[in-house]
Amino acid sequence: MDTTLRGVGVSHGVAIGEARHMGTAVLEPPAKQIAAEEAPREQQRARQAVEAVAADLVARGNLAGGEAQAVLEAQAMMAQDPELAADVERRIAVGSTAERAVYDAFAAYRALLAQAGDYLAGRVADLDDVRNRIVARLLGVPMPGVPDSDRPYVLIARDLAPADTALLDPALVLGFVTEEGGPTSHSAILARALGVPAVVALPGAGELAEGTVVAVDGSTGEVMVNPTGAEREELSRAAAERKAAVEGAKGPGATSDGHKVPLLANVGGPGDVPAAVEAGAEGVGLFRTEFLFLDDSERAPSEDKQVEAYRQVLEAFPEGRVVVRVLDAGADKPLSFLTPADEPNPALGVRGLRTLLDHPEVLQGQLRALAKAAEGLPVYLEVMAPMVADRADARAFADACREAGLNAKFGAMVEIPSAALRARSVLQEVEFLSLGTNDLAQYTFAADRQVGAVSRLQDPWQPALLDLVATAAEAAGAEGKSCGVCGEAASDPLLACVLTGLGVTSLSMGASAIPFVRAQLAKHTLAQCERAAAAARAADSGPDARAAAQAVLSGE
Ligand code: PEP
Ligand code: MG
Repeated sequence: MDTTLRGVGVSHGVAIGEARHMGTAVLEPPAKQIAAEEAPREQQRARQAVEAVAADLVARGNLAGGEAQAVLEAQAMMAQDPELAADVERRIAVGSTAERAVYDAFAAYRALLAQAGDYLAGRVADLDDVRNRIVARLLGVPMPGVPDSDRPYVLIARDLAPADTALLDPALVLGFVTEEGGPTSHSAILARALGVPAVVALPGAGELAEGTVVAVDGSTGEVMVNPTGAEREELSRAAAERKAAVEGAKGPGATSDGHKVPLLANVGGPGDVPAAVEAGAEGVGLFRTEFLFLDDSERAPSEDKQVEAYRQVLEAFPEGRVVVRVLDAGADKPLSFLTPADEPNPALGVRGLRTLLDHPEVLQGQLRALAKAAEGLPVYLEVMAPMVADRADARAFADACREAGLNAKFGAMVEIPSAALRARSVLQEVEFLSLGTNDLAQYTFAADRQVGAVSRLQDPWQPALLDLVATAAEAAGAEGKSCGVCGEAASDPLLACVLTGLGVTSLSMGASAIPFVRAQLAKHTLAQCERAAAAARAADSGPDARAAAQAVLSGE
C-alpha cells in the first residue's frame, strides 16, 4: 500500500475499486491562432466532437428514461443546432482552434438565450453543460459531471449536490470519497441511501490519480491507496464480519427490556423503497420530496406525477407510518423557479417552509397530491414542514394542511434552535416533532454542513446539540406527543441509544444503517440508554460525549 488517508466515515462497509473523478467545469481554452491550412482539420475535429457528445447524451437518455431522457435529448439537439455549427465553422475559418471556436460560439448563443424570456433563459445551464462536454472532449480532459465508465468505480468528488447525482448509476458506484462535506452533507446522505460505503471531508482526495485503486472503509474513515492483495482481503473480511454480526438481529426496534423505538427509513422516492423494506424498516420517517422536483428546474412536477410517486411509497408500507416532508427547497437544494438567486446567505434566507409560504400554490399542489395519493390506503400518513422557526410557522403549515383537506397528522421539523427551545409552543399547533439534526447542528454551531473544514462542529455528538434534542423530546413528552429524529444522527448506532435515552420516540435513517442500529439498541435497556445520555450531556466535547456514552454502554 502507498499510503492511508483519513477522513470522516459516513456510510458503513468497504469498497475497493478504481478512483474516478467527478469532472469539474471546463476551463476556458486559450485563444490561440491557427494557420489557414489547419482549418479543415479543426472543423472536422469540431464536427466529430459535437456528434460524439450528442450520441452520448442520447445514449444516457435511453439509460435514464423518463423526464431525464427528454432533458438529455433536448441537450443533444442543442449540440447539433445548425446555426451553432455554422458559427463554429466560421470562427475556425478565421483562425480559432476547434475548442476555442466552440467555446466562443456557445457564449454568443448563450447571451441570446439569456435575454429571450424566462423559459429560454432557464435553458442556459443545459447549454453550458453541452458546451463543457464538447470542449472537454476536444481538450481530452474528463467530462464534467458523473464519470463516463461502464466499469464499477469509486467516485471521487469535491462534494456532491443532489442535482449532480440524479444520473448516477447505482450499479456502477462502489463507494464515494469527497474532499468537502461533513457527516450530514448530501454526499453522505446519498451514500447511505445507495447503501455504499463513503468517506467525506478527506483533504487531498482531489489529488488521487484517475484509475488508482483505493480501498474505502466507510466505518473508520480510512482510504488506502493501492492496497496490497493481503490488505484488501483483510479489509473485506473485517467488513463481512461486521455485516454478519448485525444481520442476526431482526424485527421492530426496541431496547433489550422491550421499550419500543420504531426504526424508520429515510427515502428520496419510490426507488429507495425496496432497500427500506429489505432492511425491515417499520415505515418511512422522512420522505424527502425535493428529489421529485429536481427533474425540471422551471416548474413543480404535475399533481398527477406527484400522486404517482407518493402512492408508490405509501403502498409499500400498508398499516405502517409514512412521514412525508413537504418540499425543502433553497440553500443546499436550490430550485431556480422558487429560490431567490441573489441572497447573500442562502442558508439563512428564504428556504424550506419559508419558500412554500411565499409560493402557496406549490404547497397546496403538493398537499392535494398527497391527499389523493393516500385515498383508500390503510397507511398512517404524516406530513411535516422543514425549517419551522416558531409557533406562527407551525400554525401557517397546519392551516395549509387543513385547507387542502388532508387527512393526516401534521408535524414540524426541528432544525432551527428556536424551534427546539420553544418546542412546547410549536406543539400547540402540530401533532408531532421530527428533529432534523443535520440542519439543527448547522444552525446551532454556525457551521455550514457543506464545508469540510468545519466538520468537527457538525458532529452530532456535540453536547449542545444533545441538549437541544433533550429539550424538544421533553416538551413532546409533556404534551403527550411524539418526537422522532430523522437527521443523520439516528444512523450512528451508539448515538441512537443516546437519543433513545434522551426521550426520542422513533429513529429514521438511510436503510443501510437500520440493521446496525437495531442490533445496538437490542443490547441495552432503556435505563442504560438514559445513563449513557446523561453521561454524554455531562461532557464538554463531541468526542468526550461519545467516549462517555461508550463507557456506560460497554461497562454494564
Ligand atoms: C436535517 O436537516 O436533519 C434533515 C433531515 O433534512 P435534510 O438533511 O434533508 O436537510
Ligand atoms: Mg434539513
